[in-house]
Amino acid sequence: MKIPCRKCLLEGVSEEQVQEKIAEYLSAMPEAERTPEADYSNRLAKCADCPSLSNGLCVQCGCFVLYRAGKLSSHCPLGEDRW
Ligand code: SF4
Repeated sequence: MKIPCRKCLLEGVSEEQVQEKIAEYLSAMPEAERTPEADYSNRLAKCADCPSLSNGLCVQCGCFVLYRAGKLSSHCPLGEDRW
C-alpha cells in the first residue's frame, strides 16, 4: 500500500493554517510533556540545517518537525546525538 505524503493529505490547507494547528496541539499538551523553549529552538535549528528537512517535514520519519521537536520525549530519527 502506498502511503500518501502528509502534505498531500493537507491539500488546500495553507502553510499558516498548518503552523497554527501545530501551535494549538503543542499549547494543549501538558507542560511537562513539552520541550522547553530554548531546547525547542535548538532542535529546530538542527532541523533547519539538515538535508532531511523538506517543506517542514522530516523525510526520515514523515513528521512535521515543528510538532516532533515540540514533544519532549521525541528524538531525531537519525539519533539522539542530534536531538
Ligand atoms: S528530525 Fe532529525 S533527520 Fe529529521 S529533519 Fe530534523 S534533524 Fe533532520
